[in-house]
Formats: sequence, C-alpha cells, structure tokens
Amino acid sequence: MTSATRVLVLNSGSSSVKYQLLDMRDGSRLAVGLVERIGESTSRLVHTPAGGGRRERTAPMAGHEAALRAVAAELTADGLGLDSPDLAAIGHRVVHGGLRFTEPTVVTDEVLAEVERLVPVAPLHNPANIVGIRTARALRPDLPQVAVFDTAFHTTMPEHAARYAIDTETADAHRIRRYGFHGTSHAYVSRETARLLGRDPSEVNVIVLHLGNGASASAVAGGRCVDTSMGLTPLEGLVMGTRSGDVDPAVTFHLRRVAGMSVDEIDELLNKRSGLVGLCGDNDMREIRRRIDEGDERARLAFDIYVHRLKKYVGAYYAVLGRVDAVAFTAGVGENAAPVREAALEGLEQLGLAVDPELNAVRSGEPRLISPAGARVAVAVVPTDEELEIARQTYSLVNN
Ligand code: ADP
Repeated sequence: MTSATRVLVLNSGSSSVKYQLLDMRDGSRLAVGLVERIGESTSRLVHTPAGGGRRERTAPMAGHEAALRAVAAELTADGLGLDSPDLAAIGHRVVHGGLRFTEPTVVTDEVLAEVERLVPVAPLHNPANIVGIRTARALRPDLPQVAVFDTAFHTTMPEHAARYAIDTETADAHRIRRYGFHGTSHAYVSRETARLLGRDPSEVNVIVLHLGNGASASAVAGGRCVDTSMGLTPLEGLVMGTRSGDVDPAVTFHLRRVAGMSVDEIDELLNKRSGLVGLCGDNDMREIRRRIDEGDERARLAFDIYVHRLKKYVGAYYAVLGRVDAVAFTAGVGENAAPVREAALEGLEQLGLAVDPELNAVRSGEPRLISPAGARVAVAVVPTDEELEIARQTYSLVNN
C-alpha cells in the first residue's frame, strides 16, 4: 500500500508526449498537457493545470529527455513536481505487448528488453514508448514505472480468432498473428457500457466501435475480448482517417510488381495516404459531412465506404457473439458523429438494432443510450478515457 495518491500517465509518440497527472482518490485531472515537434527547433509545450490557465511555450527540445524535463518543470511550477511524495507511479502507454504482456506490468530491465524485442512487429510505436519509459526512469529511478499495453485486453482472443490462415511455421517463426490495438479503450468502454446498462460486465456481450483517427471494432463477451479488427499492426480492419483497413493482400504484390512501388512506399500509401484521406482528401469527419451537405460526391462516397465497412463488422461480430446486449460507439467520430452512428446501423432492425433520431442528435460528454425505448439491443455512446484507465490499472498494481 502507498499513501501517495497521484499517477502521471505518459503517452510517448515518436515526436510527441501527451501527459496527464491524475488524483486517484477521485480520478480528477490535476494537470494535462502535450509536447509536440520533439527534435525540432519549434518544439511546443502546452500545459493546463486543473484550475485552468493554459500555458504554452515554444523552445527547441532535442529529445524526449528534454521534453520530459520541461514537463517536470511545468508540474513543479504548479506544486505538483515529480519529486512529490504524493506521486505513486508513472503509467506508460505501450502499444505492443505481444503475447507475453497480458496485464499491466511494473517495468524492469527485463521487461524493457522484452518490449524492445517486439520492435520488429511495432516499428512505428514501441521505440518511442521505450524512450519515454527510459527517460522517466532516469528522472525518478525510485518510482514504480508501469507499462500498460494496447494489446493486453485482446490476449484473451481464442486461437481461431487470433491466427491468420497462413503457413503455421512461417507465422510462428515471425510471430505473425492478430494482436489487436486500442485495448485500453475497448476494455474501458465495454465495462462502462455494462455499467450504463446497470449490469455486471461478466453478464453482457458488447460490440465496441472505437472510431477515432485510428479505428477498430471488438467483440467482447462477458468482459473478455473474443475478436478485434486490427491485426498484426493497426492497419487491418475498419476504414480509418489515413489507413485503408482491410484490403486484399494481393494489392501489395500488385503495387510492387505492376506499379513498381517499394515496400516502404506501399507501407506509407496504406498507412498515411489511404482511408478517408485517400478517398476524398479529408480525414476529419466534420469536414466530410460539411462537404456532403454541399453535394460533394467524393466525400459522399468516402463516407459510404467508411460506413459500409463498419456495418460489415457489426454483422460479423454479431455472428461471433451470437447474442449481443449492446453496441457502443466511442472516440472522436463515434462520440460526435451522429450521421455515422445512424448510417452504420441503418437497416439492421431485424437484428434488434436501431437508433432513435432524437436521442442520437443529443450532444453530451456523458455515456448515454441512443436506441429506442424497449430495443432488444442497446445502442450506446460511451466516451472513452484511456488515460483514466491507464492510471487506474497503474494505481491498482502499485497500491496492492
Ligand atoms: P485519435 O485519438 O485517434 O487521434 P480521436 O479519437 O481524437 O482520434 O478522433 C479524431 C477524429 O474525430 C477526427 O479526425 C474527426 O474525424 C473526428 N471528430 C472529432 N470531433 C468531431 C465532431 N464534432 N463531429 C464529427 N467528427 C468529429
């Protein structure tokens, strides 16, 4: 047990660090902030303490260490410094935990080495997460650092959902399988959906649709993930802001052989220049809706392709679960874009799925139901809170 009650959550990207300091007595935010453009001469830190009074400064920060030192200085200025005895732990988002990390884990040298071993399957994410952890450890070597993995929630998937139908020896030699991502969000939202229904998570089956710039669906049976749409990497599944989601794998051979593109070019095409942006030039759903309202055909088609894929996954996960108690929409698009929610479930009344237009139009930051009264399947909008979930998991690990 610790008497300290604060947890700092760090989400380190390749050129950015997002952070939140939480008070675990009530889950409130003591400070939130972000450093971006790390490594450039125009690095920018934006820091907002609980009482308001956003502070912003631009100064060159050569690397994550400089960025974290700047964050520490901002926290110190608010009387919330990293040296405070009230700080119980630092919780780190780590994208890929492979099969080994099924739970939040206190970081040791051995754990870091294992996360490093996963870099080949998560080259875009794990290196930045590792740098964030090393830097935080150097700043507070005595403090527990906890890694919370995006993949962990999905490690309960049965083998028949997680394995690709490719040669077993090749797959095993290269650790090729469905890992799934956004797990912290899927875990949080499926649990909050059960709470909204007034039921225990172990009793309910939920389809979670996490629709942010990255997007993924999951089928959650009694609190355990049984299938998810992202795979070896976050490229598979739904149409996303800039990622294609599902394509015939032969598209990549075709681009290589016929279009003469390099593997890196194809990677960049499918991850950065596809999805909504590839289809219509915009990846912000607000802008796409605005263009549709003006009669823009490309935006209309992009929207229709996005929604068609979403509907296919709803149907697939309905079949996987057999009985569905709720469909939950979350993240930027899921929480805000009523037309996406309406279109994704349109025509599914036979499955007990419907959206009440008036409830769907309500704007709110609270978890809420948007299905008509008496509907067989609840449809919910449940704002995700990955930082709170990371902080909770971190705190419960160090407070036992
Ligand atoms: P990520 O964390 O993956 O970057 P978010 O969950 O913050 O993404 O979602 C960002 C996306 O949410 C934006 O690209 C935009 O498409 C969508 N979005 C945000 N607000 C709205 C809104 N009011 N209406 C429609 N879409 C929105």
